[in-house]
Amino acid sequence: MRIVLFGPPGVGKGTQAKLLVEEFHSLHISTGDLLREAVKNKSTLGLEAKKYMDGGNLVPDEIMIGLLEEVLQSDQAKCNFILDGFPRTVAQARALDAMFERMNITLDGVISLRSDHDEVIRRLSNRRICKACGRIYSLSQLDGGSQKQCRVCGGELYQREDDKPETVKHRLEVYLEQTKPLKEFYRRSNRFHQIDGMKQIGYVHKQILDFLYKDRTEI
Ligand code: AMP
Repeated sequence: MRIVLFGPPGVGKGTQAKLLVEEFHSLHISTGDLLREAVKNKSTLGLEAKKYMDGGNLVPDEIMIGLLEEVLQSDQAKCNFILDGFPRTVAQARALDAMFERMNITLDGVISLRSDHDEVIRRLSNRRICKACGRIYSLSQLDGGSQKQCRVCGGELYQREDDKPETVKHRLEVYLEQTKPLKEFYRRSNRFHQIDGMKQIGYVHKQILDFLYKDRTEI
């Protein structure tokens, strides 16, 4: 399966991507994770990207398009991938279409997860992530925050710098201005499908699978 997951920050793209990766054994391409890794390694890309990420702004298109082109060259990506966090602008979406055409790749679905503004703010402010395995938690799953270790691997939990309230508000403005217009770009495609991302994780996952399997005939 080759899927694009689309939606505002905090809607659950990362969580759903991880479930889809388990289901289809696909490569999880999270541009946010790739950038955070680059920041951690203090690479040229990381040092440049950090300036934008810390303020809740988008990293410029030419950097992101170059990064994605590189990732899509890998053998696993050629077969199967879940794209999480790319594209985020119409220019990125156009570049992605051009890459797919050159590589003879077709998409199985563009899944748009929708959300309410206040709920997204709540989710982002309550989000904690495991430094070791990347598992995502909400404070409500961590006894309100008193639990500081990952329930699965025991790794240390942290709050992303850009999940702090001052930056969250700006990230949502950036989403509305630069990323939301992509919905119209993809809505014309018959692989576009919108799902309510506010429902329970398992329910959202099932809705995604129902859509992806809809046209497949069992033999
Ligand atoms: P995410 O983990 O997807 O929320 O991404 C974290 C941050 O990385 C974003 O707020 C942006 O600063 C940057 N980023 C991730 N993906 C992209 C992209 N496709 N285009 C531009 N910036 C991106």
